Amino acid sequence: MQNHHEPLANKEHEDHCHSGDDNNDEHSGHSVELFRQKFWLSLLLTVPVVLLSSVAAGFFGYNIPDNLLVHLISPVLGTVLFLYSGLVFLKSARHELAARQPGMMTLISLAITVAFAYSWAVSLGLKGMDFWWELASLITIMVLGHWLEMKSIAETQNALGELTKLLPDTAEVVHGSETKIVEASSLELGDIVLIRPGARIPADGLVLQGRTTVDESLLTGESHPQKKQENGAVIGGSLNIDGSVRMKVVELPGEGMLGGIMDAVAKADESRSRSQVLADRFAGWLFFVAIITAGITGVYWMTIGGGDLAIAMERVVTVLIIACPHALGLAVPLVVSIASWRAVRSGLLVRSREGLEQFRNVNTVVFDKTGTLTTGEQSVVAVIGEDQSAVVQLAAAVEFASEHPIARAVVKYANKQKIDYSQTETNNFQAITGRGVRAVIGESEILVGSQRLMEDSGVEVDVDVPVKYSSHTTVFISSNMAILGAIVLGDNIRSESYDAIASLKSMGIQAMLLTGDNKAVAAAVADELTISDYAAGVLPAEKAEMIRKLQAKGRKVAMVGDGINDAPALIQAEVGVAVGAGTAVAIESADIVLLKDNPMAVIEAVKLSRATYRKMVQNLAWGAGYNIIMLPLATGMIGGIMVSPAIGAVLMSASTVVVALNAQLLRRR
Ligand code: ADP
Ligand code: MG
Repeated sequence: MQNHHEPLANKEHEDHCHSGDDNNDEHSGHSVELFRQKFWLSLLLTVPVVLLSSVAAGFFGYNIPDNLLVHLISPVLGTVLFLYSGLVFLKSARHELAARQPGMMTLISLAITVAFAYSWAVSLGLKGMDFWWELASLITIMVLGHWLEMKSIAETQNALGELTKLLPDTAEVVHGSETKIVEASSLELGDIVLIRPGARIPADGLVLQGRTTVDESLLTGESHPQKKQENGAVIGGSLNIDGSVRMKVVELPGEGMLGGIMDAVAKADESRSRSQVLADRFAGWLFFVAIITAGITGVYWMTIGGGDLAIAMERVVTVLIIACPHALGLAVPLVVSIASWRAVRSGLLVRSREGLEQFRNVNTVVFDKTGTLTTGEQSVVAVIGEDQSAVVQLAAAVEFASEHPIARAVVKYANKQKIDYSQTETNNFQAITGRGVRAVIGESEILVGSQRLMEDSGVEVDVDVPVKYSSHTTVFISSNMAILGAIVLGDNIRSESYDAIASLKSMGIQAMLLTGDNKAVAAAVADELTISDYAAGVLPAEKAEMIRKLQAKGRKVAMVGDGINDAPALIQAEVGVAVGAGTAVAIESADIVLLKDNPMAVIEAVKLSRATYRKMVQNLAWGAGYNIIMLPLATGMIGGIMVSPAIGAVLMSASTVVVALNAQLLRRR
């Protein structure tokens, strides 16, 4: 996985999700609680102000006592509200103005300041109608909207916090025959740690001793407990269930797999998608439209509209409130953060947000065979040649340096057969990607690889591989241009591959198989999985070329692969998907990493991409549509409709809540 991580503490995210960008520290963590308090207190203060308004008195039919004390209640409570809750918006507006990006907060501030100043003027004797109850309810509703919004954002950010919590605080380090409990953060690479049943694993590591089962579900989405034994890789943050094992630390706590996931979640939150840029631009633009509309409205009501300052003020304030692009500011970021939360739950590590965004357009998914559609856990089925143990010994000696699944299978087989290859000294090891390996042993140049490797090197392949192995992967071994024999390997198709291919078909997406393996094997696998399109014997560079050709035909391609040899193709494709257990190179080249080696996660990615896009469009349409319809109505210049400032605030907040709730729906499948 990626190795460059900032320390965890630095990732204690500020709030990236909020386009209003009001005062970052007001926004993270504790601010939800703060706004909850502000809301309830504001509501409490608002009730008497509303009851003392002539509107409420007229509606319920009671009389407001006419004395100075009573007349003072509303201005005093209104001022308290303005200072206690309203000031938050003013502060945020200052941030916007300092950044030369006047937006929502500036609009709200302008609206409440105008209402506040005008109401005081009236209360002090200016002729007209004061706005106290409108001001009070406006501030309260705005605080409510803000509280709900922050709650939404905080819940999403919790995903990151929850991940951090997966790491234990302490670890039990083994020193000789003793163990010592240390802070997990002080672990170093190579430390040996004892993991007892029920403990969380502090870092990525390798099991040295013991057997156990671990629960990796929160990290990879894999719901079944995983068996681990010697040499098995364990992931930091997973839960040790029953056994007791010793493990060697291979990645520092918070790095490795978990670090990669946290990076991806944090980055996905930060990275602005294209729709976000659009939404921000619209919101910024709306500010100026709102100011101009408010100006025109004021002038209209002061002249043609009758010249009543109270009415003009009320219209201006309403325009400013309704224009607040609250919903618009929230439309995209909320969807984005919920989408990355859901991605992790589905076993997807999104490295590039744009990659996930593009997935909805993909109409062709190209799969690498080995390690992707098949388990990649090859095993030797047969050895062919006059001196079989010599064939295995030479092959294993060379393959020892390779990380290819075939190489691992050959080495494993040699170990099992107790064929000692470790004394055989090899020099000049070279991997010929997509074809095989080469090394010098003594005086001989040994080649291990595909038929193509042999033919390209001028080796005549005159071994008889029995027909029954024709759909198996076969590698050949030659020494100084003379063929020595062959090793036949078997590989199993993953059970999930059947579902994955069928689901793609039902979604109207074409599946294709691409492999460096020979045609017979490719045909057998393609046939078994009912993939109609396949290409065999494809070299790494050719894999990328094949994808370019598909693209030239207008296809939008996602490539799913695992090995070093898939990296060019992963980069070439619109979306590159690496299978989690694959090599670091493949993972670095990919847009999306499948945390569990399950091709079904590709289907999840497509669905998530489509759902995310739908939500964004819905939210943007709602946020923009609301403003386009409500702004003209707020001026009071159309069809005699008069929206009061408080109703304006209700509508504005409601539109925000709609967007927030709609985004939350993405959590459901
Ligand atoms: P795939 O595209 O199916 O993942 P690869 O491109 O990794 O397959 O490999 C293609 C072929 O090259 C293999 O089927 C094998 O014949 C040969 N090959 C690649 N690497 C090795 C190796 N380390 N040892 C032997 N043969 C190899
Ligand atoms: Mg492969």
